[in-house]
Amino acid sequence: MEKQRIPMPPQVERIIERLRQEGFEAYAVGGCVRDTLLGREPGDWDITTSALPQEVKQLFRRTIDTGIQHGTVTVLMDRQGYEVTTYRIDGEYEDGRHPREVAFTSELLEDLKRRDFTINAMAYSHETGIVDAFDGIGDLKQKIIRCVGEARERFEEDALRILRAIRFSAQLDFAIEEQTYHAIARIAPNIARVSKERIQVELTKLLCSAHPEKIRQVYETGISRYISPEFAALPWQEFEGMPGLSAEKYVRWADFLRLTAPESAVRTLKDLKLDNDTINKVQTLVAWAGKEIPAEEPAVRRAMSGMLPEVWDVLVELNSYGDEIRRLTEKIRARGDCLDLKHLAVGGQDLITAGVRPGKEMGQILKRLLALVLEEPEKNKKEVLLEQVSQWM
Ligand code: ATP
Ligand code: MG
Repeated sequence: MEKQRIPMPPQVERIIERLRQEGFEAYAVGGCVRDTLLGREPGDWDITTSALPQEVKQLFRRTIDTGIQHGTVTVLMDRQGYEVTTYRIDGEYEDGRHPREVAFTSELLEDLKRRDFTINAMAYSHETGIVDAFDGIGDLKQKIIRCVGEARERFEEDALRILRAIRFSAQLDFAIEEQTYHAIARIAPNIARVSKERIQVELTKLLCSAHPEKIRQVYETGISRYISPEFAALPWQEFEGMPGLSAEKYVRWADFLRLTAPESAVRTLKDLKLDNDTINKVQTLVAWAGKEIPAEEPAVRRAMSGMLPEVWDVLVELNSYGDEIRRLTEKIRARGDCLDLKHLAVGGQDLITAGVRPGKEMGQILKRLLALVLEEPEKNKKEVLLEQVSQWM
């Protein structure tokens, strides 16, 4: 085997070295090896070792029991956490995040065999070089996602893997190998047994990738029906993924759901257990998606007043609003025009002093004042607004 040297963060080198000093085997493994070979920045560095969790804990000053029953201990070094996991063989997966039972093993090869795809099943240490038992390097070169072992069996063990295959194909712009692709379509019904949280994590990573349009494979392979009927009914064919959008999750979900009715978009996101902040932002964007507005200050202020500034910026992109609207946005912001009740020159207390009864009436007056100020921002002065209120009364 070629003994290629891969640069690793010094903390990872130290953890591996310490384990090896004690006579254990230890390697960087999985995504970090894959990403480094591709010249991509790894998200995190995972370590696999022959040492048992208790042995790992004894060797490092600061550790956290992250998933000790599954063999994972987080080692803290320079305020960063590194997951160190004992070589294991997985039992059958259930609906949760982890296999029902795991067995530890002393063989690296056994640990690599349980991993999902050849490109994710490589290990590395300076001492050994790359350990690549399933030709992950070959598949990296050919840009192919291929299961370790028999695809059908591997997907039967854990149906989430069918979504992971599509997710990696989107992140890396790889094709899914033929056998693997056929197996995905066969095993699609099993996704119904996977938790919505796990499904959501994969879909979100897919949408936030360089090729969000590859989410169409979730429909084409027949998976979407087994996530939910409403999810299957989304306008899949139309989705192309708008180029140049930021990779934030609410932005990508909004782009994906822009042609969907807002209520349906919200139900879909709730069903997939997305957080409320994301749901609220997507709801706003989907409600405004495709709406033309005149390139006039009041109209722009009215639209801006209904959402957070960053959400407005995303809407400008999503709806391809032209230069004129962008210019007006800048002008409105530079001048600091009032866009919400918080910045109105009068508040509830002022209105009480002016004789307005707190409650429904006051709420309505505040709304009317905001509407007025959105029309004519120069009127956002206490005297002017109180004068207006006294006229209304
Ligand atoms: P990223 O962190 O960029 O999403 P990754 O490859 O590190 O990608 P993780 O989900 O962090 O993916 O998993 C780490 C490694 O654990 C994978 O590379 C793979 O070897 C293995 N793995 C993760 N999930 C599964 C699974 N469901 N079935 C089999 N192996 C898995
Ligand atoms: Mg990872």
